[in-house]
Amino acid sequence: MSSIFTKIINGEIPCYKIAEDEDNFAFLDINPNAKGHTLCIPKKEVDKIMDLDEVSYMKLMAFSRKVGKAIEAAVPCNRVGMSIIGLEVPHVHVHMIPLQSMKNATFQHKETLTQEEFEKTAMEIRGFLK
Ligand code: 5GP
Repeated sequence: MSSIFTKIINGEIPCYKIAEDEDNFAFLDINPNAKGHTLCIPKKEVDKIMDLDEVSYMKLMAFSRKVGKAIEAAVPCNRVGMSIIGLEVPHVHVHMIPLQSMKNATFQHKETLTQEEFEKTAMEIRGFLK
């Protein structure tokens, strides 16, 4: 069965899309630690980051960096943090999180955004992608 993230890539489940290339896809996390919290995923469905082949891993990191720079430009924050966990969804994903403080990195504090806020945030981040 396809992962929930493969369904998002295939358009079977809606998302606030940020970016896509041949191998990777980025969209806003639906339950964000902070406004602008984005997930970068390989299109290839692999559960654990350590099982991703090296070329795909490097491409995912380069893609995440590009997305992270756009987030940093679009969302007021001290810096963008990267985190790889994967305990909830068995499809590799890099959390790109705008950080004001450690609170935003803990996954204990969540922010509620309206649909309009999600759309506006996604649009603003997309606007800084080269
Ligand atoms: P992890 O697997 O690293 O613990 O976290 C999975 C992340 O995926 C969580 O932050 C969660 O909010 C996010 N997530 C789970 N299901 C969906 C979904 O259907 N859409 C989006 N946009 N994010 C999701």
